[in-house]
This record gives sequence, structure tokens and C-alpha cells, in this order.
Amino acid sequence: MTERNTMALPCVAERFVELATDDEVLAFFQGVRGDVLILGGGSNVILPERIRQPVVSLKHADINVEQETETSVVLRVGAAVVWDALVAWSVAQGYYGLENLSLIPGCVGAAPVQNIGAYGVELKERVLRVRAYDRQLQRFVELMRNECEFAYRDSVFKRHSGRYVITEVCFELSKQPRFVLTYGELQTLQDSPDLSLQLVRDTVIAVRSEKLPDPSVIPNTGSFFKNPVISKRAFDALQFDFPGVVGYPQGHNSVKVAAGWLIDQAGFKAKQLGAARVHDRQALVLTNTGGAQQHDILDLAASIQSQIKSIFSVELEIEPVVIQEQQQEPRHD
Ligand SMILES: Cc1cc2nc3c(=O)[nH]c(=O)nc-3n(C[C@H](O)[C@H](O)[C@H](O)COP(=O)(O)OP(=O)(O)OC[C@H]3O[C@@H](n4cnc5c(N)ncnc54)[C@H](O)[C@@H]3O)c2cc1C
Repeated sequence: MTERNTMALPCVAERFVELATDDEVLAFFQGVRGDVLILGGGSNVILPERIRQPVVSLKHADINVEQETETSVVLRVGAAVVWDALVAWSVAQGYYGLENLSLIPGCVGAAPVQNIGAYGVELKERVLRVRAYDRQLQRFVELMRNECEFAYRDSVFKRHSGRYVITEVCFELSKQPRFVLTYGELQTLQDSPDLSLQLVRDTVIAVRSEKLPDPSVIPNTGSFFKNPVISKRAFDALQFDFPGVVGYPQGHNSVKVAAGWLIDQAGFKAKQLGAARVHDRQALVLTNTGGAQQHDILDLAASIQSQIKSIFSVELEIEPVVIQEQQQEPRHD
């Protein structure tokens, strides 16, 4: 699995299965009990050295136009489609909606799991429904957007990890210009005479490439911690002690605090523990300098979490999914 996770953690799976059709999904899951790890692009997992549960990779790779009107289009997209390939394709077709989410690594099937988001757009705003095999009900189900319980880096799929095997995601995109240019560097495009889908995509790619390490060069999983959401009152107290603290009001009397700022202020930028290192240009990103194992990454993360708690009284939550090494063999029917 070492080449199948962007943190490049050394990992051996005892069983690896590829499933290409719904019939194969049905047959496999009806014949297996216990934990199964569904793996997409491996860009949001922290893997142990050994995975005893079966690892499943889905191969559903079609993009279908399900419905089209003069103003909008509904796409049905297979779980194995590479996320950024879908974004590139939708931009080329002139479909508005996914361009801000350019260059996020991984596959379409994983995108609803943590409700991927970037540059002012979250996946939930573009999803119509998600098709999945429900291991609890033992049949395929379709969850409408409001049933997916999407929240910041969260969803029903993440909260009930292991229950749903996502095979297809349906998106509703606009055929009429509908840009979101409220976030950071994208604001500079608001008055651009050349404003286009491709320009937004190119700008996002340029900014991301500048800020985030390319996992094929420096192994990482993107942001390692969620931005903590705290009460307005707690934020005011924090701001009193640390006037430079960066926060984004969230309504409901709460504020999302920039975790990268906290980690940077705590002096962690470019700090290394074993083979795990905080990236020197973006304190929110932990990297593998070569030869790191799961515990190296988690030790550095724990050290950051405890310092942030003691300096700022703020709890940092790990964003990627940490896969625990199982002690027992899974039971097979
Ligand atoms: C450089 C970099 C930048 C990133 N930037 C962003 C960003 O801007 N915004 C953002 O939100 N994320 C970002 N990420 C995180 C990551 O790319 C996303 O979370 C992505 O959706 C993960 O996709 P994946 O296919 O690699 O998932 P994996 O890592 O393979 O899996 C992630 C989780 O989803 C589950 N899963 C995967 N596929 C399925 C399926 N078909 N059915 C059910 N469960 C499934 C897995 O079991 C696991 O729990 C970044 C990562 C990197 C390395």
C-alpha cells in the first residue's frame, strides 16, 4: 500500500480487492464480515504498517450526463474517477460549480466522505445525491444531499465509517456563469475582463501549487488538522491575548480559527520529529521526510495538539482518517 497513500507510509495489506461493477460490490460485501477499508487515492489516510482487514478499491469510472436543460446539467460520476480529472472535464464542458475545487487529490468516491472544500466552495453545494452500498441494510441506497448530513469536513459517511461504500456521486452544475470569488486570491479576479472557468481553475492551481507541497515530491495528506470552530466568546478571549489570531465568523455565534496560524505561532513551522516534519511554507501540513511510519506522524501531531492546547486552550482535531492496525483476522463466511 506504500505507493497507494500520499504520505508514503510503509504499509502491507493482507488482501487487496478491486471491484468494477455493482454486482461485484454486492457479491463481495455479502461474503465478508467485519472491517473493510475502502481506499480511493490514499490522500486522506494515515496507514499502519499492516492492514489485516481487506482493502477494497472501486473501479467505477464512468461520467454520464443524466439530465440536461438550458441552464443546468446533472452528472452521474463513478467513484474511481480522479477528482481533478472530473473538475478539468467539467471546466472544459463549460459547466460551472467545481472549478474552485481544482487540484484536490483523490477520487470522486471519497469526496463526499469529508465534504471536500476549498476557496469558498464545499462539495455539499454541488451534490444532488450519493449512491452507495449500505453494509447495514445489505443493499444499494441513494442518499439525497440533505440525508448526507454534510458539515465542515464531515458527513454521514465519515461519522458511520465502514457502513457506506460509495459507488457513484451525482452533481448538479450550472451552464450559466456562477462564480464564487469571495475567498483570498480569487477576489482579484472579480473585475477581470478575462474572467472564465478556465481562468478560475488556473488561478486556484497556481495558488495551491505555491502553498501546498506536491505529494509526489514531498509526501503529505494536505491539511493535517481541521480548523477548530469555537464560540464567539472564546474567540474574543483568544483575540484579547493574541491580537493577530486569524478567525472567520461562522454565524450561530461561532468562529472558525485558522489552525495553521496557531501552529505557526507555537513555533512548529519546519520542526521535525523523527522523519515527520511540519512543512516550512504551510504549518497545517505534516510531511514524511523519508522512512516515517504511522507512529512518527501521530507523535508529531500529538506534540502539536498538546502545545496548542496549553498555549491557546484550543483543541485541534486530526483531519485525515487514521487507520488502526487490527489484531484479529476478519471472519469470512
Ligand atoms: C496536497 C493535498 C491537498 C489537499 N487539499 C484538500 C482540500 O483543499 N480540501 C479538502 O477537503 N481535502 C484536501 N485534501 C485531502 C484529500 O485530498 C481529500 O479528502 C480527498 O477527498 C481524499 O480522496 P481519496 O480518494 O484520496 O481518499 P482516501 O484517502 O483513499 O480515503 C479517505 C477516506 O474516505 C474513505 N473512502 C474512500 N473512498 C470511499 C468510497 N468509495 N466509499 C466510502 N468511503 C470511501 C476511506 O475509507 C477513508 O476513510 C488534500 C490532500 C492532499 C494530499
